[in-house]
Amino acid sequence: MRCPYCGGLDTQVKDSRPTEDASSIRRRRICPDCGGRFTTFERVQLRELQVVKKNGRRAPFDRDKLVRSVQVALRKRSVEPDRVERMINGVVRQLESQTDGDIPTERIGELVMEGLKALDDVAYVRFASVYRNFREARDFNAIVGELEAEPDSAQTRETARQRRDAPAT
Ligand SMILES: [Zn+2]
Repeated sequence: MRCPYCGGLDTQVKDSRPTEDASSIRRRRICPDCGGRFTTFERVQLRELQVVKKNGRRAPFDRDKLVRSVQVALRKRSVEPDRVERMINGVVRQLESQTDGDIPTERIGELVMEGLKALDDVAYVRFASVYRNFREARDFNAIVGELEAEPDSAQTRETARQRRDAPAT
């Protein structure tokens, strides 16, 4: 596996274990050339998926691309990599099982939005704003309103926890 930092090919596996839901193997790697550390996942691919874009063009489904767009949304948010991995696995599993192999891009976006909503509200809003291509502020407000209306959202749980943990005065 090539080092993502320096491009070195001689990276070593330091640790290897299944993720919590045992759907993939997680490997921690280190690059002896630059000291860079990174994690890789090994997982099952049930079938080949084709993404059908709005203009009708097809392209093979690219899991890494999906991961990158989710990571952009999650930037600087503290969400366990395992949870992110599980969310993505869930999205891919749904895509594999719900379609005949052809997936409209909108379907992917919807599933990722659902997944992110459960993980992190900020990442959800970020992803949704890119995905829905907001042009007007009221789109943004609508989605924030949607979150506030759901007492079960991750942010609300977090706030509730903070309140509970706060010392009584
Ligand atoms: Zn390196």
